[in-house]
Amino acid sequence: MIKKTGSNFDIIIITGEYYDDHPLSPVGIIARVLDAKGYSVGIIEKPETKEQFVSLGEPNLCFCVTAGSMDSMLHNYTPMKRKRKDDPYNHVTKMPNRAVLFYCNKIKQYFKSTPMVIGGIEASLRRFAHYDYWDNKVRRSILYDSRANILVYGNGEKQILEIAERLKQRKDLIGIKGTCIIKREIDETVTVLPRMKEVKDDVKKFALMQKEFCIYKNLAQEYENNYLLQYQYPTYKTRDLDWIYSLPFTRKMHPQSSLKMAKFSVVTHRGCIGNCNFCSLSLHQGEKIISRSEENILDEIRKITKHPAFKGYIDDLGGPTANMYGMDCELKNSCTNHCLTCKNLDKSHDRLLDLLKKARKIPGVKKIFVRSGIRYDLACHNPEYIKEMVDHHISGTLKIAPEHFSSKVTELMNKDNASFDTFISYFNQFNKHKKQDLRYYFMIGHPGDNIQEVRLLRDLINKKGLVNINHFQLFTPTPMTNSTCMYWTGLNPLTMKPVETICDYKTKKKLKRILLNNKRKRRT
Ligand code: SF4
Repeated sequence: MIKKTGSNFDIIIITGEYYDDHPLSPVGIIARVLDAKGYSVGIIEKPETKEQFVSLGEPNLCFCVTAGSMDSMLHNYTPMKRKRKDDPYNHVTKMPNRAVLFYCNKIKQYFKSTPMVIGGIEASLRRFAHYDYWDNKVRRSILYDSRANILVYGNGEKQILEIAERLKQRKDLIGIKGTCIIKREIDETVTVLPRMKEVKDDVKKFALMQKEFCIYKNLAQEYENNYLLQYQYPTYKTRDLDWIYSLPFTRKMHPQSSLKMAKFSVVTHRGCIGNCNFCSLSLHQGEKIISRSEENILDEIRKITKHPAFKGYIDDLGGPTANMYGMDCELKNSCTNHCLTCKNLDKSHDRLLDLLKKARKIPGVKKIFVRSGIRYDLACHNPEYIKEMVDHHISGTLKIAPEHFSSKVTELMNKDNASFDTFISYFNQFNKHKKQDLRYYFMIGHPGDNIQEVRLLRDLINKKGLVNINHFQLFTPTPMTNSTCMYWTGLNPLTMKPVETICDYKTKKKLKRILLNNKRKRRT
């Protein structure tokens, strides 16, 4: 039973976000999974005072601590390190800086020996030594600073069930896939990363560590008297996802939830084969696609149509990248190559097209929106998919992310914009008699970028006549990405070659001005 009040819970979750009983909410999923296996779960949202921390008493098994679906520093600060203002309408609500550490310290204060499990993005991507943009230094693994017993990385359903079972049986927590622990010895099967004290001061060692990061291996990093040990990620299969997303979520949300606009969204798959260097998804949930079965997704939509608040509109049908649904490969559990460029990968979009066509014909459904981002280079493999999107699944605008037009920068981002013009011409052809637009996302200040490259970007935006520039995002070096490694070390970890980086705010502001002035000029 999931409760937010009461006592004698097996597990108490402390979260930096509001709790939503929804399949898009990481806490919502973990609570439902534990509940389905018979564990009682208490949830404390955004605690600040002692009364709030002790309000549910001591759990029988453990506390689970998470900042939520976003790193708390990213949540609290802009890319220029300015404090974001509390704004519930823009989903910026109070969260302590370094929320996982703050919550763990409080728990230690009030419940000295109760086991603590940390998870979510903040813990997952700070599991090894990492560059912290906000402190501008290399910090050690969050597992040391939090004094938690175990860290769960990636999606944590399998891990938390195994942890709960072991704690129930009073067994140790060694060897659980998808977790990290601190251990005195390691065996010869483990890949050893450069030591903490080496990566702290030596940028080359830091880049070598980055190159070794992978979720499919056991990895260890030596600290003073012991090792931070990562156990390889567990295998999640279609049937696992089908089970998780079939749990009885009520879709009830907190009034200030960041998911309110996604109440009737449906997840189709996990993973992303894009491997963009500025994104950490591959080190969190993996770079191989695991899709739900078509029948399981359609069943979820049929259930949604019976929801009393449903008005006929599915808010989103997608995943990390919407048009990667069905791009599973049977070799994914044994292969470490990159799928996007692999000839074995089925890029036809056939499974996705079947799903979209069947989903929109379900009685009670008026429209299925696809608001998750799409990879337009992949979409060009089947123009019928672009037509399906234009005809049935856009809510006024389709957002795409070319990120930049300088090949010097996009190469360092691991993006390929060669098919941009092809995609635009397909879109315009299918969209001729409709009032729908494309919106574009760009990123500036990424390693490799400079004033000259941003001017080139501005000129090409003008030349291509792009009017709906949705967003110029200033690159933020978040923990554990390849791009962050480039920013900190000045080295590309994939080639070990030097990379130009912009770290001073004056130049970052100048980059923004070049594009913002251009935007204003275009409006007048
Ligand atoms: S064989 Fe190709 S498509 Fe299959 S998992 Fe490996 S890289 Fe991906």
